[in-house]
Parts: sequence; structure tokens; C-alpha cells
Amino acid sequence: MYQFHYSKAADEQSALRAGAGGARYIAGGTTLVDLMRETVERPEALVDINRLPYTSIEVQSGFLRVGSLARMADVIAHPLVRQQFPVISQSLTLSASAQLRNMASIGGNLLQRTRCLYFRDVSAACNKRVPGSGCSALEGRNRTHAILGVSRHCIATHPSDLAVALVALDAVVVARSTVGERRIPISQLYRQPDDSPQLEHNLQPGELIAAVEVPVTPEARRSGYLKVRDRESYEFALTSAAVAMDIAGGVIRNTRIAVGGVGTVPWRLPAVEAALHGRPPTPDVFRTVAAIAAEGARSSRENGFKIELLKRTVERQLNTVAAMP
Ligand code: SF4
Repeated sequence: MYQFHYSKAADEQSALRAGAGGARYIAGGTTLVDLMRETVERPEALVDINRLPYTSIEVQSGFLRVGSLARMADVIAHPLVRQQFPVISQSLTLSASAQLRNMASIGGNLLQRTRCLYFRDVSAACNKRVPGSGCSALEGRNRTHAILGVSRHCIATHPSDLAVALVALDAVVVARSTVGERRIPISQLYRQPDDSPQLEHNLQPGELIAAVEVPVTPEARRSGYLKVRDRESYEFALTSAAVAMDIAGGVIRNTRIAVGGVGTVPWRLPAVEAALHGRPPTPDVFRTVAAIAAEGARSSRENGFKIELLKRTVERQLNTVAAMP
């Protein structure tokens, strides 16, 4: 470890001022402290934001609003979330160990860094950690890496299961800074690597996520999350699928699908969604449309299996969600 400055913000304005001055925000610390210990990240100043009033979970004016300091475990257990947004509850349940779910905040979950092993190995070349140094994963161990949204500078997957669920549900991130508040559709929060993989999101320096808002919709109520991984717990996704579906009169009225473990950002599947519109929710239909789930995929030496696995993950979760009562 190295020396750094630590302070505790008493209120929102002092936190935002510290953020504007270059301090990094810390809440649960479940990602950042690990990275600091390994010297992958070396912030000079941390401001602890745990006293800020960002912990509520409630429905207001047609939106579920979740404060960014709500802990994963509290969101999982909340009756409103379980009943009206099961995909959120399920994605969080499948995300981490019980100890981590008790500590980790929703805002921190959305901004967690990739699990690419070279990113966490300070002796390896990694454009995300040291821009311009190269990408060890391109010719190295890349079985778990991305097949969608990749560039020749980075093929790391985005690690958050929750982000996949929120992209499917068209959530909005509420961000605050010393200059005010802005609302960012979560589909516009994350950046694909292109030639700047060190830039992972579109928050401005010092901007702080205060809350996430999710519209209340019929399809959110019929929703779920499937995560396929090498072992049943404490493991990141090889593939995952968040599906929300509205069925009426024996046909699909609306479907929202996002997938994880395959993209450099949480990946929405609009072509699959459009192909389902007005069709009956049958296994044959789901098999047919899932065949286009991996369109545009570009695999590396070890992860070509993800293309077929992604199609099967989407097909299986479409069937699961359609069968929900
Ligand atoms: Fe770094 Fe991205 Fe390459 Fe991993 S895939 S080594 S995070 S540049």
C-alpha cells in the first residue's frame, strides 16, 4: 500500500467539492481498496461518502428510484424490487458473495473495473491501466474476454451484472456535481474501448452518481436474469441475459434484452427485440430469434465458444421469462 489522504464528507456539498478537487469517492470500497492494495489504482485522496442521504429505495411517479449508497443486499431484499423488477434482484443475487453484497453499494457496482487478469497484473501490458502500453489479452489468455464492442486496443468485458439488467430496463443514472444535476440514460453511461480503453464511462471528473431510476413497466414485472459461468458462485459471467417481456392476448407486445459477459459494455439486442414483436411466445420462435443474438461478434483465440453460448443463453432465458406467471 502507499500513502494517501482520507476524509469523510459530512454532507453532499462537501463531498462534491472534494470530488471537484480531484478526490476519489469511496463507499463500500469492495473494488477500489483491492485495486489500491495491488497498486493498479493510486488515488492521492479519497472522500468517504457513506454519510450522504443516498440510501432510499422507493417508487415515485412511475419510477423505481434506488439511491446509489443502497447496499446490494438491501436492494435484493426489497419487496418492491422483488415483485416489480425481479431481473434487478436476480442480477444482484448472482453477483457476489454474501459478504460483498452487504458492503458493496449500487453506485460502486455500476462503476466497478474489469476483471481482465492483465489489468490487475501491474507487470503486464494493459492499455486500460497504462494507455499506449499494449494489450496482453489480444494474444494471451482471453477465454473470458469480450466478443462484442471489442477494439484492437482492448477486449475486456464489463463486469457488472446489475448494469446488464438496468440497460435492459432503460434505467437513468442521476449524477450530481458542484455545477448541478444531470440525468444520463444508462445506455449512454458506458464507453466502448475504441482507441481509449482507459475511458470507461461518460461521467465528468468529480461527478457522483446519486441514484438510479427505472421506469415501472409491464415487462419489468415479467423479467429475469440468467448467468452462465464456470462455477455456481463467486464467479463472473461467461454469458448472461437480462430479459423483460410483456405478453398480452397470446402475443409478445414488448421485449427488452441485454446481455453480459460478452461485451465491452452491457450489450442491448434491439434486433432480437424487434424480431419478437407481435409473435407468439413459443420455443420455436425463441430459437429462431436467438440465432441472431451474436450478430457482429468478433471472437479471439480462446473465446469463440461464446458465440454459440450466447445464442443458447438468450434462447433459454426467453423461454424462462415467457413461462413466468
Ligand atoms: Fe488491458 Fe483491456 Fe487488454 Fe485486458 S483486454 S489487457 S484490460 S487493454
